[in-house]
Amino acid sequence: MKITGIKAVYPRWPREPGPVWQSCFWQVVVRVDTDCGISGYGVGGGGEPAVLVINRHLRHHLVGHEINTPGDIAGIWDALYQASSPYGRGGMALMALSGIDLALWDLLGKAEGKAVHELIGPRTKDRVRAYATGQDFALARDKGFSTLKFTHKWVDDSGFDTAEKMAAHAREIIGPDLMLLADCYMSWSPTVVPEMARRLAPYNIYWFEDTCTPDHLHELAALRPLIKPVLLAGGEHDFSHFAFERMARAGALDLWQPDITWCGGITAGLRIMNTARAHGIPVVPHRGGEIWGLHLIVATDCDDLAEAHSDQWITEGEKLWLGMPRVEDGCLRPNESAGFGVTVNEDLL
Ligand SMILES: [Mg+2]
Repeated sequence: MKITGIKAVYPRWPREPGPVWQSCFWQVVVRVDTDCGISGYGVGGGGEPAVLVINRHLRHHLVGHEINTPGDIAGIWDALYQASSPYGRGGMALMALSGIDLALWDLLGKAEGKAVHELIGPRTKDRVRAYATGQDFALARDKGFSTLKFTHKWVDDSGFDTAEKMAAHAREIIGPDLMLLADCYMSWSPTVVPEMARRLAPYNIYWFEDTCTPDHLHELAALRPLIKPVLLAGGEHDFSHFAFERMARAGALDLWQPDITWCGGITAGLRIMNTARAHGIPVVPHRGGEIWGLHLIVATDCDDLAEAHSDQWITEGEKLWLGMPRVEDGCLRPNESAGFGVTVNEDLL
């Protein structure tokens, strides 16, 4: 089939723009049309700038192209990466490319009457254990989650005390057996991390996520042995398999968390998996409980763990996409409809 059109749209998210980047440049929807009447839908990041990247520039590299196999998608990915490289290679350009890539996988799945995970490879997991990101530990425990993640922001010198209080509070509610994770959204410095590992040791935290920025590759590599057995996790702000190859060469992290809607879609995700496998690094995609990451998880050797949020942004997503799987008995499974198995709510476009 031949691509006849592509259009990116920034949905009417109910958000007031403010200092937090997600309030300004949230997820975009990409639609790819073909000459056989089938359309594919994908999601990328980057807001209106990503819409411009797609509708003004990358569309010229797509219209008229044949697409019949995953190999065709990989070829298109490489061409788009190359075309956008003078201004891209990361950030909003890769967030835009992610939306196109996911739309192409959805398209191919629909054309072949297969779920995207079937196109990726044999099923490795029937269902995936969900972990809950959020501060309502009692709700997550009562909903059957086996793993919880709290977010701690380092604000001032009281950071060690507030983190300790938060971890103690979480353990008090969930007990000693559930898995507990900590995310600090790049707010702990390389000097804070080892002391934090010492202070939080009694609470048995499995990973510290996003401790420093993606530019701290060498500092992260030096931190890994200092905080064992806690794993140093990260990667949601890294783009394309090239960044993860650099990460592997630096020995920067124990566990990778690429975001499939930002890092370059399923195509980049599969390449990142290849590098991870070669280096023995476990992969737990960022927001893997959303359908885009979930199809990758169930058809590859990603860890049996998918992030599920309980906050407003996911509620928004559920309004935009009909058919999103919900957590049941602490687990998620993609539905078996063709493509990603979800339908966009055109009213929000
Ligand atoms: Mg995170």
